[in-house]
Amino acid sequence: MQDTLQDLIKDITAGVSFNRAANMLVTRVTNILNCNICSLFILDAKTEHLQLIANEGYLDLDPKQISVPPHTGVVGLVVERKEPLNLTDVNTHPAVYHINGHDEHAYPNFLGVPILHQQRILGVLLAQDEHKVFSEDDEGFLTSLATSFSAQVSHAIATNEIELDASIAMLHEEQHFRGFAGSPGIATGIAVLRHPPTHLDVSFRLIEKSDIEDELREFNGALRVVVEELTKGRERMMSVLGPEEIALFDAYLHMLDDEAIPQEVRTTIVDDCVWSQSAVSLVFNRHIRELERSENSYLAERGQDLRDLGQRLLAAMQHRDGDDTDIPPNTILVAQEITTTMLSEVSRENLSGVVSIEGSMNSHATILARALDLPAVIGATDLPLLDIEDLPLIVDGFYGEIVVSPTAATTEHFDALTDVEESFQLELDEIGDLPTETLDGVRINVWVNIGLVSEISRSLDRGAEGIGLFRTEVPFASRNRFPTEEEQRRIYREHMEAFDPRPVTMRTLDIGGDKDLPYFPIKEDNPFLGWRGIRVTLDHPDIFLGQVRAMFKANADLEGILRIMLPMVSNLEEITTAKSYIDQAYREVCSEGINAKQPQIGVLIEVPSLIFQRQQVVKMVDFLAVGTNDLTQYMLAASRTNPQIARLYHEFDPAMVHSLRMLAKTAHEAKKPIGICGELAGTVEGAVLCIGMGYDVLSMNATHIPRVKWVIRKITMTNCRRIVARVLRMNQAAEIVAFIREQLQGAGLEKALPPHEPPQLFL
Ligand code: PEP
Ligand code: MG
Repeated sequence: MQDTLQDLIKDITAGVSFNRAANMLVTRVTNILNCNICSLFILDAKTEHLQLIANEGYLDLDPKQISVPPHTGVVGLVVERKEPLNLTDVNTHPAVYHINGHDEHAYPNFLGVPILHQQRILGVLLAQDEHKVFSEDDEGFLTSLATSFSAQVSHAIATNEIELDASIAMLHEEQHFRGFAGSPGIATGIAVLRHPPTHLDVSFRLIEKSDIEDELREFNGALRVVVEELTKGRERMMSVLGPEEIALFDAYLHMLDDEAIPQEVRTTIVDDCVWSQSAVSLVFNRHIRELERSENSYLAERGQDLRDLGQRLLAAMQHRDGDDTDIPPNTILVAQEITTTMLSEVSRENLSGVVSIEGSMNSHATILARALDLPAVIGATDLPLLDIEDLPLIVDGFYGEIVVSPTAATTEHFDALTDVEESFQLELDEIGDLPTETLDGVRINVWVNIGLVSEISRSLDRGAEGIGLFRTEVPFASRNRFPTEEEQRRIYREHMEAFDPRPVTMRTLDIGGDKDLPYFPIKEDNPFLGWRGIRVTLDHPDIFLGQVRAMFKANADLEGILRIMLPMVSNLEEITTAKSYIDQAYREVCSEGINAKQPQIGVLIEVPSLIFQRQQVVKMVDFLAVGTNDLTQYMLAASRTNPQIARLYHEFDPAMVHSLRMLAKTAHEAKKPIGICGELAGTVEGAVLCIGMGYDVLSMNATHIPRVKWVIRKITMTNCRRIVARVLRMNQAAEIVAFIREQLQGAGLEKALPPHEPPQLFL
């Protein structure tokens, strides 16, 4: 049975439509289990009825006509108990229920299993037979199927692929959907859908040699149209974006440089006598496949850019108009994948927010949304895209939530929050370079986490007092080979000059885990526990030494202190070895006649082993920083990238709070500074907690700086310490967060909290 089960699972999860998969499932289950009947019921969350979706065995049954009322029948019992039910005489069971007069007496043997997804019951899969008594083996078989199929069921319900009676009507009532918080803020408006201009797949056609000239003309004409469209989009954006962000458009246009991909298209037309549209499809698809195969998220995103460009070219060749560039006021732009050009084509004035079903925090469009201060939710995979056109939406970019068809009360609530948020924003704008000091005079350093040159001006505008984490892997990831020492020096110098005399913390290359370089693939079963960060660079002193030399050279003749930070350290030997290489690089640079300064060297605490060796670590370095993003995942054995266990990954977990406290205490006793540069530092709750523990530096994304500065300037250290003392006695993350929020409210600082309670998932 094992083989058959695996085959069936493979077939139903192979990307066929939900209806096909469901019908295949019930038919093949009756064959494999050799039983008369198999039925798939889905629970309508609204009406709580179980609706029959697919059936094999009842000849005269229209599934659409069959639904079981709540808490009814043995199938209802499976829902209630959330466990399998195996009965040999269903007719004598007190809960038995006969659907629309169907005679089930003929099939007394019943096996029903629940379909559960992330603790939620979605439906029941059941088998029935006249003679066969179902075995434990059958039960295991049906349970395995239900478990494998549950994610598909969940997706089909959310996207209305399953037509439950209430599902369409439901969209006209308030509904909430989740995604990632791509860009902060709240936007209220009307959904305007953007479609990709056309599919990138066209049929393959050969042409006569005599047609080549015409086909080349066709392609060149389309290329001119698209380049012109993009150039106009770029110009439109010039008034609202800085030169650094405009560079994103240049990267986009660069892909259509005459010498690059277009030349390959022309060669395909001429050498292989291929129709121009087929040639575009072939060449672009080939490059997209290469990029998307990369596990490097930056490069994979470039694949999406290329798809957008290819689609535009084909649309121009097919003489189709793109979507209307006029949008009504208060537009929320919604698309399967929002692209840079979609954003540049519409007027910023009328654009209130952005929703993308696919995409990531790294995509150009997400970066642009942040630069444009547009609230954005990305990766809202369950949003029923095609059904929400013209519906009112609220986009909550603070928590990654979308409200479809909000009630008047919800709209009013969010409007009020937006008003408060806007006036608060004006207040935040005034903070700028004011010092970050508590009411009782304790100075805290609020620094920025950075990686892209385009973030420099935004960080300084928002009052960054230094760089607390330069993610040097970012410039490494955007190339197709290791950057040379001189290329690195230039990038680092740009940041250091812009921030001088503020301190700059350069983290040595932190690749591995989920951060692969396309030209340096690392393949292993368990990448987060594998060859990562300092482990890679100590095995490759050439990379380490070149990088550190570039840092020294970039810092030469500047006032600002160079701080070198080591990622993913798990033992003391790594620190000793890294320090000796830093020393070697320093001597080499000095011998070249460069006026290098001794750096401060620190360790990024991300691996729990160092917490137990903190006394020794602190003696070996000039500063400590805590990387709470990784420390949380290693401390709680909960991946930072798996949404299925997101509720277990909690930076405010008591184990984290106690660890943070121990580290701060040790650093202070040794009179060494300690900072935080995980996401925790950028939340006001985390900031208050950490400064109360004595952290000297909070380093965060530029977006969060003004809010955190505002809170620190309005709270006393005494109050923060009192909060810490209470929190250390608590047993649950949710309790800790709720308590800190309550304290901030009590101190009249509620304005700084994200402007409403987080959805339950975040607690
Ligand atoms: C961290 O792990 O907290 C950290 C700052 O590093 P990164 O998020 O880049 O892994
Ligand atoms: Mg980390």
